[in-house]
Amino acid sequence: MKHRKNKFYTGKIILTLLVVFALIFSGYFGYSLFREHQYIATIVIDPGHGGYDVGSIGYDGSYEKDLTLSIALRTGRKLKQLNPDINVVYTRSDDTVDWADNEEDDLIGRVIFANEQNADFFLSIHLNASENTSAYGYNAFIRSNDPVSETIANSMDNNLTNEGWLYNRGLEYTDSSPLYVVDNLDIPSILFEVGFITNPQECEDLQKTSNQELIAECIANAYNDYIVRTIEEK
Ligand SMILES: [Zn+2]
Repeated sequence: MKHRKNKFYTGKIILTLLVVFALIFSGYFGYSLFREHQYIATIVIDPGHGGYDVGSIGYDGSYEKDLTLSIALRTGRKLKQLNPDINVVYTRSDDTVDWADNEEDDLIGRVIFANEQNADFFLSIHLNASENTSAYGYNAFIRSNDPVSETIANSMDNNLTNEGWLYNRGLEYTDSSPLYVVDNLDIPSILFEVGFITNPQECEDLQKTSNQELIAECIANAYNDYIVRTIEEK
């Protein structure tokens, strides 16, 4: 008799658990273990160059591809900290690249990747280079028909200026300097040249973790402010 009673309770517990799991699965509690997180926006962050392509070579012999990766990953981390509802995806998150080892396929690969991710924003991080080692400063490149990126780039500039990073070379449009990853995407797309690695002082400054963090925070804040503001306006 006692044995039969235990069996009855076990059955009841199993039934209750099944109902609870079914409710969780259907998202009844407003949250489902099995449903993907609902992001408010997706940004693809693209660390320029990588793998076979070192990019420009800095005054101290450092590679552009390493600096772009470091700044891009920091920017993505800052953005996730500011707003976990923003989906951050990278075209590469280490020194390996998923596309063919030539510049044309490389750039096409990055654009295809952004489209596959259904990205809302694309941000490519680069470092500038010049034979003139006194050239310095940052600037953003955007399409002239992309007012969203213009707003975000101006906000990035304001944030950097407020933090004392006073080397703005001004906003540039790809009509005069075509850039594949900016021109071949329909979404807001910015190619941000963070500074000149051929400038001895700027190269040294850009290697510092504290400066990379500061730059990353200024970029991340600009995107988050824009995304949050446009959602509130809806
Ligand atoms: Zn570059």
